[in-house]
Amino acid sequence: MSITFTIMGAGNSAGTPSVGNFWGNCDPTEPKNKRTRPSALVQSETTTIVIDTGPDFREQVNRHDVSDIDGVLYTHSHGDHIYGMDDLRIYRLRNKHLVDVYGTKETLGEMQARFEYLFIQKADIYPQVLRPTILSPDDMGKPMTIGDIEFIPFIQDHGTCQSLGFRFGNLAYSTDMVALDDKAIDILRGVENWIADGSGYKMPKNIVHCTLKELYKLNENINAQRIYMTHLTPAMDYQTLLNETPDNYYPAYDGLSFKVQY
Ligand SMILES: [Zn+2]
Repeated sequence: MSITFTIMGAGNSAGTPSVGNFWGNCDPTEPKNKRTRPSALVQSETTTIVIDTGPDFREQVNRHDVSDIDGVLYTHSHGDHIYGMDDLRIYRLRNKHLVDVYGTKETLGEMQARFEYLFIQKADIYPQVLRPTILSPDDMGKPMTIGDIEFIPFIQDHGTCQSLGFRFGNLAYSTDMVALDDKAIDILRGVENWIADGSGYKMPKNIVHCTLKELYKLNENINAQRIYMTHLTPAMDYQTLLNETPDNYYPAYDGLSFKVQY
């Protein structure tokens, strides 16, 4: 089976340019430097999954013409990954079905605390929008399906909290992580395309995001054929990053798409 995996947003929490038209080190004339907040789209012929719904969600799904969603996988509850979730309301109203959202107990709990109205029926005119499914510790490392798309969730260390990574066939998505345990590494081992957080960039150490050095170290065990760095900050210029990393490392960009084989 083959599915399509598309990076809808390769930017970090600020996006590039960030507010005030701040481009940092990024060349404003390079279109791949224009980055929305982190999100991905996973599609088969019959199923559509979105990973995270950040502040640029509406623009992203419109750009990719997403008319309905079978499930949203949440990596964690930081603002750059959830603050576009109010727009799921519109899918609920137009398509007349609840939107299924998946995440850990902690992530869904945070979302319910901040967006209670989306999870309950309020008065007669505001229907429930979201139907939560908890991904439990027991689910980690096991294949699960939404529609006909299979994925394997795994826990990642995001410094101050945990995030989820997801493997789809020969591709894996690891945004927002600073370290991975043996269990996660086992799941990732041998993956062809690994989309991974490298937004600690050249810092000596970042508490919540992998530096490039840490990414190289992790891949000594994972052995991914190609690594696509994502969650890119305005400090990370596309062409510069391409030049200063090894041959099999590439900066991700908005709209980058993969055919994924199972
Ligand atoms: Zn993030």
